[in-house]
Amino acid sequence: MKRKKIVVLGSTGSIGKQALEVISADPERFELLGIAGGGNVSLLTEQIDKYKPKYACAFSALEINRSETKLFQSGEQGTLRMASLEEADVVVNGISGFSALKPLLESLKAGKRVALANKESIVCGKTIVDTYIKQYGGEILPVDSEQSALFQCMQSGNNSEIQSLILTCSGGRFWRNTAEEIENITPEQALNHPTWNMGQKITIDSATLFNKGLEVIEASYLFDIPGNCIEVLIHPQSIVHSMVGFCDGTVIANMSNPDMRLPIQYAMTYPDRSVSVCQKLSLGDIRSLEFYDAKPERYPALRMAYDALEIGGTMTTVYNAANEAAVELFRKGIISFGEIYRAVDYVMEQHAVCSADSIEVICSADREARNAVYKKYTM
Ligand code: MG
Repeated sequence: MKRKKIVVLGSTGSIGKQALEVISADPERFELLGIAGGGNVSLLTEQIDKYKPKYACAFSALEINRSETKLFQSGEQGTLRMASLEEADVVVNGISGFSALKPLLESLKAGKRVALANKESIVCGKTIVDTYIKQYGGEILPVDSEQSALFQCMQSGNNSEIQSLILTCSGGRFWRNTAEEIENITPEQALNHPTWNMGQKITIDSATLFNKGLEVIEASYLFDIPGNCIEVLIHPQSIVHSMVGFCDGTVIANMSNPDMRLPIQYAMTYPDRSVSVCQKLSLGDIRSLEFYDAKPERYPALRMAYDALEIGGTMTTVYNAANEAAVELFRKGIISFGEIYRAVDYVMEQHAVCSADSIEVICSADREARNAVYKKYTM
């Protein structure tokens, strides 16, 4: 078997660390070609020592001397070079936030398969990403657990036979609480996720359901399915990662223990599967799986996501950016949990939408939305 050469962008983040585990667990199948990390230089240095990639690159300056690893220049240029390494078979893009878009485009331009964990690059950059795929022929395999589940369920039928995408959602900690009850929960409370172990921003987004809102948009864009064919179900056990309903009434579900290493691995081995380090699912131990409707009327983050999807253009970028800015202010203790929703609502209300067909337009909508949030709460 020819080993697949893998590049991991965002190697010091939650997805990146797990990708490195998956790669090192199967040295006959995978070879770590390169890693690129952000500001956490000490962890990046540790990873270089432990996994010995052929290439490494840090966003901030990094000085090491390792004979096995060639160091790229720091900053965006290094990351972009890493994203398009000629030898790479798969690029895992685990960069967080909006800054994942440029490396994604660079990978697509080089015709790479991208195992994409990042939502924002699709939510904001869909139009450009589509153009790049058409023009250069790269491909995206989703790593987000729900999108990977949908992708896997879709293998059971033709795209024209799909009737609905059913995204599951753990609900975070507060899905049963009323708006009044969650108004003033603290960042510490919001950072405590019941089933998934993830980065901080996404854990807060799970508690607000903005994460699920972003996934509704992401699913629609990745699979070309309109918003009115996408449902959200709260499923507190996080065993069913999503489902696809077909025209004959069959619903195909994807199940496993909640472990991100599984969708990361599948995106790297597709269309094959291989033995994984993840614990086997034992439904006999779990015994019951629950599902509850998550109506957009009840959850403002979902309602705004469906609105943004319907309006389209730069509105999905604004939805994402306003939420990111609001979460940052919430984590700093400047605004309350409940204010996150009102901040996004306010900025979307104000935004004059235009078509999102260039990076400049997206960046400016992104900046404008963030500034609107900061201006409202910190000036
Ligand atoms: Mg997810």
